Formats: sequence, structure tokens, C-alpha cells
Amino acid sequence: MVMDKRMTVRIDGEEVELLEGFPVRFACMEHVEEELDDYVNEFEAAPNTYRAESVEAVAEGQGSDADVKELDKRCRVCGEPGQIALLREKGM
Ligand SMILES: [Zn+2]
Repeated sequence: MVMDKRMTVRIDGEEVELLEGFPVRFACMEHVEEELDDYVNEFEAAPNTYRAESVEAVAEGQGSDADVKELDKRCRVCGEPGQIALLREKGM
């Protein structure tokens, strides 16, 4: 069975569909350059960047079955709260 990897997030209140296979990652100001390099190395594409606080998870399903996958906004390098979101939008 293939999991539906389609992912949508809300950026500044608007739902944005992400490119398949490109995760959302977060970095603090100190490690954002490092994470950008990492992202490019790993996925061979430069991510779009946003303020972390602008990016929110979107509920999947409806009503009481809605499943909000909270985004882990910690910096991948040091675990501190991330300031910058790295992601790949569809159509960019
Ligand atoms: Zn960090």
C-alpha cells in the first residue's frame, strides 16, 4: 500500500501544496545556512524559505476525524525553536 504523501501546509493563512518528497524543515538563525546546504545536498533543489511562525499544519480529514499533524519546528541541528522554514512549494 502506498501512503498518500501529498502534503499541504498553511503559509500566512493560505493553503500551499508542497512538492512530493520534499519535507518541511526548520532551522534557527544560527544554523539556517547549514540547513540550506543540507537541503540542497539531500534533495538537489534549493528550498523556499519562510518565517517559521508563518507556516502551520493543515488538518487532514474532516470534523472529529480531523488529524492535525503538528509541525516539529525545532532546528534540526541544535533542537532550539526554529526561526526559518525550508520547504518546496508546488509550482515554484
Ligand atoms: Zn540551530
